[in-house]
Amino acid sequence: MSNQLPKTVDPYRLAGAGAKLDGELPLVGMIRLAPRLESSKGMIGVQLEFGVDTSNTKFIKGSLSAVLQLGCQRCMEPMSYPVNLKLALGMVMGNADNVRLLPDCFEPLLIEADSLDLTEMVEDELLLALPIVPVHSQGSCAVTLEDVCDQPPDHSSETRRPFAHLSDLMKS
Ligand SMILES: [Zn+2]
Repeated sequence: MSNQLPKTVDPYRLAGAGAKLDGELPLVGMIRLAPRLESSKGMIGVQLEFGVDTSNTKFIKGSLSAVLQLGCQRCMEPMSYPVNLKLALGMVMGNADNVRLLPDCFEPLLIEADSLDLTEMVEDELLLALPIVPVHSQGSCAVTLEDVCDQPPDHSSETRRPFAHLSDLMKS
């Protein structure tokens, strides 16, 4: 039975203690992610390991796993989109200029105060993982590529007015 993680944590304390978090966060409440989803039901599996590396960088490593419900942009039906992400985030304190001091193996994670909003961090990672245009894989979509490509060309934008001169003829 997984436990629900706290919304916010003290990242410095957890890094100093080499803490591990293993639990879940709900999708509901992720307001930036919600418009991209068909449904906000469900949980995200979160495994995080906090620590300090040899360059004295405080880091968070771990993984996220979830099955998101997206809307296929070809057939407009819902589709399940499994997400499995690996994280390697280096904590950058206060000033964004400090990002350049971070070893290359870490993505920067800006931390402004002594608290880290776990929900926001996970939401950021999921937003980056979403496809720009979600579509079913070929074969599982209700609309086939042939349906899309075999449609007759659209001439409606062409100006065809065969009777445009009729009123002139009628006058003469
Ligand atoms: Zn589809």
